Amino acid sequence: KPVNLENVISNAIETILQTHEQQVKIERHGTKPDILIPLDEIRIEQVLINFLTNAVKYSPHNNQVIVTTFVDHEAQEVRVNVTDFGIGIPDFKQDAVFKKFYRVEESSLQFQGMGIGLFICSEIIKQHHGSVGVSSIVDEGSTFYFTLPLN
Ligand code: ATP
Ligand code: MG
Repeated sequence: KPVNLENVISNAIETILQTHEQQVKIERHGTKPDILIPLDEIRIEQVLINFLTNAVKYSPHNNQVIVTTFVDHEAQEVRVNVTDFGIGIPDFKQDAVFKKFYRVEESSLQFQGMGIGLFICSEIIKQHHGSVGVSSIVDEGSTFYFTLPLN
């Protein structure tokens, strides 16, 4: 059913702030997409929660996370970026992080996890006919994104 994406993003941010309390600073950038998109609200919120949880978890020395949204009218899609300033991911491992049970060795020593969160994200976004991806620089941070078609 058509849902306001902005509400889904706010709910996800609210959930993360409630679980992590004062250590996390989440900023909203970009134009807030006041648009209705047909989506499964619970599942898209789960994607955002997984991205945000990772952004916090893999940023042990920086508590800042930025959520940016763009509406691309030409491509008829909306894009949501979740940016952190954490440990980053080496170039050649960036595609693998969306695979089931994959974890970057360097981070698996230091942080607990199953390697399933991003796989679930990619499956949910696939079901919505969108795309997921990441760009990242080691020791500088990462931006995970998803896109959703506007109709
Ligand atoms: P869980 O299943 O509990 O989410 P996880 O966090 O290890 O466990 P994913 O969320 O699927 O699993 O992430 C896969 C791997 O990608 C992580 O183990 C980590 O190596 C890397 N990764 C994910 N997000 C980030 C990030 N924001 N910064 C750096 N590395 C990340
Ligand atoms: Mg995770």
